[in-house]
Amino acid sequence: AGLVARLARFWLGCVALWRARRQARELQARLDSAIDNGEFCFHYQGKFDTAQLRLVGLEALLRWDHPRHGLIYPNAFIGLAEQTDAIVALGNWGIDAACRQLVQWRAAGLPLVPVAVNVSARQLCQAHLPDFVLRCLQRHAIPPGLLELEVTESCCIDDMAQATLGLRRLRALGLAISLDDYGTGHAGLSHVRMLPIHTIKIDRSFIRDLGSGGSADCDTVIVASTIAMARGLGLQVLAEGVEDGEQLAQLRRLGCPQVQGFYLHRPAPVAEVAALLAAGAPAGRVTASQQGAMR
Ligand code: C2E
Ligand code: MG
Ligand code: MG
Ligand code: MG
Repeated sequence: AGLVARLARFWLGCVALWRARRQARELQARLDSAIDNGEFCFHYQGKFDTAQLRLVGLEALLRWDHPRHGLIYPNAFIGLAEQTDAIVALGNWGIDAACRQLVQWRAAGLPLVPVAVNVSARQLCQAHLPDFVLRCLQRHAIPPGLLELEVTESCCIDDMAQATLGLRRLRALGLAISLDDYGTGHAGLSHVRMLPIHTIKIDRSFIRDLGSGGSADCDTVIVASTIAMARGLGLQVLAEGVEDGEQLAQLRRLGCPQVQGFYLHRPAPVAEVAALLAAGAPAGRVTASQQGAMR
């Protein structure tokens, strides 16, 4: 009976794998037409200053509104897009879309904050990226300071020279550059040294256990020393993935200047973001936590 059960489980596993592969192939084949069909959109998540919890920026997070599968999150398709040139088309679409969104908010008379777009390694290594970004900004009359790029450490070392060159040009144009998911790669410190970044975004895996038990002590040291390093280098720091008031309180104690996470604001469709921009701060719950943390 044990053998039969194991065989059945193995067979079910194979079917699941086959299904997942088929769906991935299907998604990959549809990426380009999905861009043309307008099936992609951004959800926006607020970034806040830790002291006052005022909105200091927004991160644009890609969503695929698939006609049959519904809303698909980036982890299900960014990797697929990176295997083909679709990532370049998608990345270009994203930069233009963020600029168009800023134009709409400006037209609505809303106070603007910088919008950060995630840029994949493949995109970053395209020599034409700085020109493309510049053309977008000019076309929409957006000041470069309102656009930010988030790059991850996954950018391979072979491409570092090209990536660094591109980022230097973008920085010279006035764009801010963030190093995303800091601490998860194998070369975090060399990226800090080589890339012309403004902000270190500490990966949420180091924030998760802050203020609780677990590996909290080790994480506290890592976060504290990252903050100290950033300060020494004159860089901004942001803690990602803040999910509760304890983590926020601990980040306050550690002097982390900026925070982002579900506790403060969940990524929201554009219709809901206007209110956040208008208010400049999140509502209710956060005020309570702010009081809690200041006790
Ligand atoms: P990321 O740039 O590190 O973005 C943060 C991710 O963490 C987002 O997931 C966000 O929803 C999630 N998050 C934010 N706060 C919390 C929290 O408190 N707890 C937890 N558990 N998660 C939180 P999302 O939207 O699924 O995006 C995943 C990744 O996909 C992003 O990670 C980014 O690397 C990539 N991505 C998103 N949009 C784009 C894009 O336009 N282009 C490229 N190339 N990559 C993108
Ligand atoms: Mg990001
Ligand atoms: Mg991140
Ligand atoms: Mg990430």
